[in-house]
Amino acid sequence: MNFVNRSWVEIDLKQLRKNLSIYKVELKDSISVMAVVKANAYGHGDVEVAKVLQEEGVKHFAVSNIIEAINLRNNGIVGDILILGYTPVNQSKNLKKYGITQAILSNEYAKQLANQNIKIKVQFAIDTGMNRIGLSSENVASTVNIIRSYSNVFNIKGLFTHLCVADCEQQKEFTNIQIDRFKRVVNEVSDLNLSYVHCLNSAGGLWHEKYGNICRLGIILYGCKPDYSNKLPRGIKPCIKWKSVISMVKKVKKGETIGYGRSYEAPNDRLIATISTGYADGYNRLLSNIGAVYIKDCKCPIVGRICMDQFMVDVTNCPNVSLGDEVELLNEKYNADEMANEIGTIGYEVLCNISERVSRIYK
Ligand code: PLP
Repeated sequence: MNFVNRSWVEIDLKQLRKNLSIYKVELKDSISVMAVVKANAYGHGDVEVAKVLQEEGVKHFAVSNIIEAINLRNNGIVGDILILGYTPVNQSKNLKKYGITQAILSNEYAKQLANQNIKIKVQFAIDTGMNRIGLSSENVASTVNIIRSYSNVFNIKGLFTHLCVADCEQQKEFTNIQIDRFKRVVNEVSDLNLSYVHCLNSAGGLWHEKYGNICRLGIILYGCKPDYSNKLPRGIKPCIKWKSVISMVKKVKKGETIGYGRSYEAPNDRLIATISTGYADGYNRLLSNIGAVYIKDCKCPIVGRICMDQFMVDVTNCPNVSLGDEVELLNEKYNADEMANEIGTIGYEVLCNISERVSRIYK
């Protein structure tokens, strides 16, 4: 029981280490793991997660922005840190100062960064079909010319691309096309002796051609699935549990309604418990009248709408429920993937949304 907060997550760092080691068995020895610890390590706490992974020998980390990157540096992360997204160009001096590598998102962005006259480490993003960021792989010659034109301006460490359907067996052909497009660009710059070439994410590293020398490992490190239909290697499991407490138990009579909007009406006399977590904690409001929690191993359905800081569950069939009892919002039986699937989203979002108000406890 946590005596400080009313909503907290417990993170099993042993399971995190285990997920990494099981995943590494699936990769070729020539491929290093780049731990994707953006968005507070998918809600698990970026500094704590990165420290443990650093102990496990991980030397590459990926984040989404410079604030995340500097925070890791200031907390003892010494490996390569790659910013996958946009950094305002006036931050070039900080990229240099903290030894952070910036992804080059477009030629336009490269020009703006080059105008800062600071020689920073970069990796060029190549767009092979996702149409999000990167130099297009369509006209290889022009893309290669662009990369070459910056070879004295930046310290070019590598090239990467992102696979957009690697989690989908039915679309395997498109992933093959993406990898082929990427290879064509990589082959044309082999003389630049780039240190890193990478295209694999969690799904890519398991189910596709293991091309490149880095795998950017995110969701599976945390034990969740890229897609609900995926089967993970044996032993990989979620390393997070989300817990809260019961703040009140009361009897509700047949015909009474519960919560905002009166969206639930008791079909007969029910016993209802109020839980001390709400959407301001990142508990998705779409779970209203849909989701469930576990109290003493008993599955209790959510009744009524999720409020900002609280919600209600039906505990009629759960024996001896009382004020102060611990409640499991995410556990082995109902994990982020299950919760996400019920409300039409993905485990990634469930995890990333767990707000700062929820304390992180490490085991
Ligand atoms: N690489 C990039 C560019 C990403 O945007 C992400 C995730 O958003 C990852 C790697 C990690 O993907 P996954 O969590 O599916 O392993």
